[in-house]
Amino acid sequence: MSKLFVISGSSGVGKGTVIKEFLKRNPEFKLSVSCTTRKPRAGEVHGENYFFLSREDFETCIEKNEFLEWAEFSGNLYGTQRPYIEEKLSQGKKLILEIDTQGALNVKKIIPESVLIFILPPSFEELEARLRGRHTETEEAIQKRLASTKSELENSKYFDYEVINDSIENAVQKLEEIMK
Ligand code: 5GP
Repeated sequence: MSKLFVISGSSGVGKGTVIKEFLKRNPEFKLSVSCTTRKPRAGEVHGENYFFLSREDFETCIEKNEFLEWAEFSGNLYGTQRPYIEEKLSQGKKLILEIDTQGALNVKKIIPESVLIFILPPSFEELEARLRGRHTETEEAIQKRLASTKSELENSKYFDYEVINDSIENAVQKLEEIMK
C-alpha cells in the first residue's frame, strides 16, 4: 500500500482547507513541509507552513541536490527536501505532499508507487471568486495564478484521481475513499 500521496489543484481551489479537515479526521497522515522563497503570509509560521528560504539559500540546496523535486511557480521557488521525505517514510508515516502539478509528476517519476490526486473547483468562475475572496495576493499575483490554472489542468490528465471540491464534506469523503 502506498504511503505517499501527492495532492495538487489550482490556487484558490480550497485544497488547503480540504487537506486540513482530512488531517483532523485522519491523524495517521502527516503533511509534508516544503521550502519556498515566497514571503510568509500573515499567520504563516516557519517550519509549520513552509521553511521560508532566501533565493540564495534555495539555490544552494538545488546545487547540493537536496530536493526530491522543486519547481518555479508564479515567480517563486518551491521544493520538497529529499532527506525530510525519506525520514518520514522510513518512520512508517503516511505522507501528503501538497505541491504543484509539475512537482507531482516529477515525484511520480522518482517514486512510481506514489498516488497523485488532483482537486478541481466546481467551475472556473468559482475559482476566481475564491482566489479574490482570500485577499492574500495582489492583483498581479492573482492574474499569474489564474494563468497557471490552464497548464495545471493540462497536467492533471496524468493524475491517478480527480476530486471535485463542491463541498468540503464531499471532498474529504472522496479523499478518504482514495487514501484509506
Ligand atoms: P502557495 O504560494 O499558495 O502556498 O503555493 C503555490 C503553489 O506551490 C501551490 O500549488 C502549492 O501546492 C505549490 N507547492 C507548495 N510546496 C511545493 C513544493 O515543495 N514543490 C512544488 N513543486 N510545489 C509546491
